[in-house]
Amino acid sequence: MKKVGMPRGLYYYDYYLLWEAYFNSLNLEVVSSIKTNKDILDLGIASCVDEACLPVKIYHGHVAYLKDKVDCIFIPKYIRLHKKEYNCPKHLGIVDMLNSSIENLPPLITPKIELNNKADFKNIMYSVGREFKKSNKEIKNAYKYARKTFSKQDDWIQKMVIPDYNKKELKKGRIKLLILGHSYNVYDDFLNMGLIKKLYNKGVDIATVNDINENEYRLYSYNKNKRIFWTQGRKIIGTAYSLIEGHKVDGIIYISAFGCGLDSVLIYPIEKKSHDYNIPFMTITFDEHTGEAGIDTRIEAFLDMMKWRSESENYLPSFR
Ligand code: SF4
Repeated sequence: MKKVGMPRGLYYYDYYLLWEAYFNSLNLEVVSSIKTNKDILDLGIASCVDEACLPVKIYHGHVAYLKDKVDCIFIPKYIRLHKKEYNCPKHLGIVDMLNSSIENLPPLITPKIELNNKADFKNIMYSVGREFKKSNKEIKNAYKYARKTFSKQDDWIQKMVIPDYNKKELKKGRIKLLILGHSYNVYDDFLNMGLIKKLYNKGVDIATVNDINENEYRLYSYNKNKRIFWTQGRKIIGTAYSLIEGHKVDGIIYISAFGCGLDSVLIYPIEKKSHDYNIPFMTITFDEHTGEAGIDTRIEAFLDMMKWRSESENYLPSFR
């Protein structure tokens, strides 16, 4: 059976179930790279340009890990997921970056994902299936099965990606934090040094962008000053506004990658909104030099500050 490599980085956590179901239904074996670890990071740093952000370096590491283990690697170019919206230029250029920095790659399957309507998506699925010489009938069945399976993506994230996080166990009185950021920063627990697990072990409940449905985050992502034209940006900002305005979280931690242009635009309005609603907000920026002890100290300090505020309503941190 032909092996299709799936690098565990960038939009892996957003679309894994869709593509896995699709390829399996076409009788192709999906081989995901292992979870990010020090070896993957080192492979990425060795092959990627220094200026790239940490998630892009890590993605290079996953591709380098897979290159001798599979028959081809699937690297969709996610250009546009909604009409008049785009993705970060690094997603658009990732295939060119990989081709110029990693030698002896197996064939890359790189469909352009540029969606204006549902028909576009169907056409892309058909074009991918034809690259594997599959018949229209096989592709049609795989497409239907993949769409159905994809509806369970949010459940998959909660059960498989952050298994410690289980809503049924929520206990009254626990602090609830919203962990914001691009999916590959939030769900890659090597990149963020196990932030979600650390918080959970300290008795904190977690909300992420996958807690909100698309209609809701789109409604709240309306920004009076400027239209957000990045799809993930809308998801991040819409989720934040919805949960802040609904008073549904006690604090927010934003996980950012050093040098990320999108985050530099997204963080300010969310921080301001949190300030207006008196909700504590902290940004943690990661790159390959970030030290874990520093992260632990900041988490402790943030939680202590929240505790003091709950015990003494008038307590305000010194930066105000
Ligand atoms: S959005 Fe930011 S973190 Fe993501 S690929 Fe672009 S620059 Fe890197």
